[in-house]
Amino acid sequence: MEQHNHKLVNNVLLRYYMAVDTISIQQLLERISGLLRSELRQSLVPYGLQQVHFDALHYLSHCNRYSDTPMAVTEYLGQTKGTVSQTLNVLVRKGYISKTPDEEDGRMMRLALTPAGKKLLRNVLPGDLLSQARQRLPFKEFNHIAQSLQQLLSTMQHVNQNKSFGQCATCVHNEKTSAQSYRCKLTQETLSPAETQLICREHSFA
Ligand code: SF4
Repeated sequence: MEQHNHKLVNNVLLRYYMAVDTISIQQLLERISGLLRSELRQSLVPYGLQQVHFDALHYLSHCNRYSDTPMAVTEYLGQTKGTVSQTLNVLVRKGYISKTPDEEDGRMMRLALTPAGKKLLRNVLPGDLLSQARQRLPFKEFNHIAQSLQQLLSTMQHVNQNKSFGQCATCVHNEKTSAQSYRCKLTQETLSPAETQLICREHSFA
């Protein structure tokens, strides 16, 4: 009986400390995200853009050829079709993205960054705050933080049952066929090494 009570107390304490740790990590991530977003908002003022425009633009800069449609942007941003449509129209009107019909299915639109869109991204990323913090932290420490954040993101994407939009290289359908070539087992198409670094709406961890 005494042993059972001891085990129960340990379990309660463990859950308590896990909850405290999780809350403090959530607070840290929210504060970091708040700082980055506030800086980004300022950087976007000269371009007449808001955060949501930037989010769509940034997504299109690192998504793959299966994920460059308005529907994929809608799924990624988790917003309504109408809102995303307005966002994309603003980006087209300002000349930051192009919208062209798919070569095989003319009803489907393909989105891509224009040179002006790529230049905008280069101008605002990386943010000054993060760049300065990187200079102050030891190289090893910064790399360690990057790896831990990547691991946290992958785990959360795994837990989340929605589409993960993960990096192609980590997908269960990705198969290495030679030193410099990969194949998507889902589409049966060849992937270049550069393509495996992009994110995909069909990505799956398991
Ligand atoms: S291997 Fe996975 S992530 Fe890569 S293109 Fe195929 S489905 Fe998308």
